[in-house]
Amino acid sequence: MAPLTKPGFDFCFDPRACETCNSLCCRGEPGNIWATRQEVQAICDLLKINLIDGIERYFRRVGNRFSIREIVLDDDCPCVFLLPEKGCSIYGARPSQCRTFPFWKYFKTRVNELCDECPGVTRLP
Ligand code: SF4
Ligand code: SF4
Repeated sequence: MAPLTKPGFDFCFDPRACETCNSLCCRGEPGNIWATRQEVQAICDLLKINLIDGIERYFRRVGNRFSIREIVLDDDCPCVFLLPEKGCSIYGARPSQCRTFPFWKYFKTRVNELCDECPGVTRLP
């Protein structure tokens, strides 16, 4: 499969890199993994957990938004849904922020930063 491109982005992305990179984009520095109310519901449905309990267990509130919790380790901050060696445990219901990586508006002007983060990305000539 040819690497993916998107109009307006000066890089391409080869998803085959995901097979060996140990989910670098789901870990690392702490941050926000935004999920809409509908996405929170979809995750809870997938996990067969009621919404109230699911929010309590897997999300934190940032203002009036939801962000997926992370596990704070000494030198890493993986998403709570990241399973060691196995990847995302809610892959089918992962939020848009995860589905659209690495084609984020933020990275349009920060390709070097993205290349450091994701081994599947190559800057276009
Ligand atoms: S960092 Fe890049 S190559 Fe690694 S899992 Fe994420 S998208 Fe795939
Ligand atoms: S929800 Fe899944 S794809 Fe998104 S950061 Fe967490 S483990 Fe990664």
